[in-house]
Amino acid sequence: MTEVPPDIAEHLASPDTLPEWVRFYSAYPTVTAAVQAAGNGESVAVFSSESTAYVQRVVLVEGKPVIEVVLYPASQAREALVTAYLNHTDPEAATAAILHTLPHLLPKGIDLSGIECVVEPSNGPAPRFGFRRRVSAVGLHTWRDYDELHPLGDLHQVLSWHSTGGSIAEGAEAVAILRAHGLPAVGCERCGESLTNRHPSWPGTWVCLSEEYGPRCEEFEDPFEGLHELDTAGIGGPHAPATRDLEPVA
Ligand SMILES: [Zn+2]
Repeated sequence: MTEVPPDIAEHLASPDTLPEWVRFYSAYPTVTAAVQAAGNGESVAVFSSESTAYVQRVVLVEGKPVIEVVLYPASQAREALVTAYLNHTDPEAATAAILHTLPHLLPKGIDLSGIECVVEPSNGPAPRFGFRRRVSAVGLHTWRDYDELHPLGDLHQVLSWHSTGGSIAEGAEAVAILRAHGLPAVGCERCGESLTNRHPSWPGTWVCLSEEYGPRCEEFEDPFEGLHELDTAGIGGPHAPATRDLEPVA
């Protein structure tokens, strides 16, 4: 039975601790316990969307224990990345270009030392792109040691849903940056969302990544608007890809 450090006991008892962290810290109250479990072949990971899509894992890399964190651009930033990826005709070239462009989507001055841009395979229409940090777990015993020695810093903040300062580029700003780096990103002229006409469910129709149900542009120009009440419910219509974004990228 692993001893539970007082700060973790307090964290577990707090009503403000999110359930995923209660499960993780209950199973692995110390780094040592997590490393031991990973060494026994257990999958030691916690996914949280507290600030952004975030995963923390303890893994063995070349036999050595490592604490790995991956922060995934979420929401509209992911929409921009993935639609640009789908619009590209060559997935390998698209992946390379996205990995190169990811830091350029962040506000200037974000410290990326020790952080790598990575791609993780998926069974969906596009892989997951993220920012990964790996720290050796050798010599670390408590989670407090880890947090104090290796704070995540600015990156977590700029990817956050509720970022108060600068944040990762989204919408038209992200489309412009991706296009400047050779990726065929396309934005809707009206609603500003990122679009693809190569969504596996809607080939040939411009949709957002999440529009499995078909295009529903919120800024659709509706000639019947105001004539009857149904339209005020905002049912939406086709998107209007911006003409400038339909030009080939350099
Ligand atoms: Zn639109």
